[in-house]
This record gives sequence, C-alpha cells and structure tokens, in this order.
Amino acid sequence: MASKQVNVKAHIRVIHTRVYKFVCKSCEKKVERETYATICPLYCDKCKNKRHTVKHYVN
Ligand SMILES: [Zn+2]
Repeated sequence: MASKQVNVKAHIRVIHTRVYKFVCKSCEKKVERETYATICPLYCDKCKNKRHTVKHYVN
C-alpha cells in the first residue's frame, strides 16, 4: 500500500468538550453526553449507533 506524507499547515485548535444533558429522542431516556459538537445532540450513544445500523441495512 503506497502512502505519502502530506504536510498540512499547522492548524491547532483547542476544542473543549461539553457535557449535554438531554432527553434522547429515540428511547426518551435522560442522558448525559460529552461531545465536541456545539449543538445539543438528539440521541444517546446507543440510539445513535442503532440509527447508523438501521440506515446501513436500509441502503
Ligand atoms: Zn436513546
């Protein structure tokens, strides 16, 4: 497998995680999730993974 090293301009950003407390739209459980996202997530990790799986099968 060929590979090459690409020098990308130094772009260092410090991203803080945030802990969101929300109710999962799928299982309606109160969950806490630590995420880098700047918007509140809709699904807990479990349901998020489930959705991915379902999507995969549908396609
Ligand atoms: Zn859920």
